[in-house]
Amino acid sequence: MNRRRRVYEGKAKILYEGPEPGTLVQHFKDDATAFNNKKHDKIEGKGVLNNRISEYLFQKLGEIGVPTHFIKRLNMREQLIREVEIIPLEVVIRNVAAGSLSTRLGVDEGTMLPRSIVEFYYKSDELNDPLVTEEHITAFGWATPPELETVMSLALRINDFLSGLFLGVGIRLVDFKCEFGRLWEGEQMRIVLADEISPDCCRLWDIETQDKLDKDRFRRDMGGLVEAYQEVARRLGLHVDNPTRTRSGPVLVQSK
Ligand code: 5GP
Repeated sequence: MNRRRRVYEGKAKILYEGPEPGTLVQHFKDDATAFNNKKHDKIEGKGVLNNRISEYLFQKLGEIGVPTHFIKRLNMREQLIREVEIIPLEVVIRNVAAGSLSTRLGVDEGTMLPRSIVEFYYKSDELNDPLVTEEHITAFGWATPPELETVMSLALRINDFLSGLFLGVGIRLVDFKCEFGRLWEGEQMRIVLADEISPDCCRLWDIETQDKLDKDRFRRDMGGLVEAYQEVARRLGLHVDNPTRTRSGPVLVQSK
């Protein structure tokens, strides 16, 4: 029985009130969804792997000076984060043509892009997260021009860093989605990386074999999703003991 106050429940995560004001607990579920929830399944072990991989990537990004909402991992499925005001945009960075870009523009999947491309999608399930431009974002007040500039430069820095990190373990970062939030510290506001970065929101292809190590395995009915996420974790040097093991309750891990 969970007595914590649930602040928000999304498709793959739940946010609970945290132990201190201004903190939240981010819980990773095993639910997999695609095509705006039209396809839905539970994949045992996915939440544990995403929690661990996202923790690792947020920590590494923090080490190079990218501000994030991440504080620490609490247990196999949960992490403590700072509460932020989410900017209602999905920021997608692409290095190789795939997915909706290939469909929309008729570019063969796998084509290297002449440079990294940043796209913005307005977060709205009712509208199917439509592609929007900077004009829409600033005109409708979803973010101010200076906020958008910060978001763009952080997104490109994150992309450069993660592309190199994955390349080092034989994985091409084809594209990924990230989200940003406003973190208020008194009167001061900072834009920080929020949400998660995991194989759920990235396209990760093996450099040698082009094998997909990401959520496209679910979207395209390829199977082997947990094995692919486990392979990503293994290559990053993360030890995730038996991610499919069920536990009766949260188990504390040592904070650093
Ligand atoms: P596409 O626009 O090609 O469908 O997706 C581009 C990238 O962003 C892919 O790596 C995809 O996983 C990620 N992405 C786009 N929208 C979402 C979303 O709503 N949820 C998640 N988890 N990832 C998304």
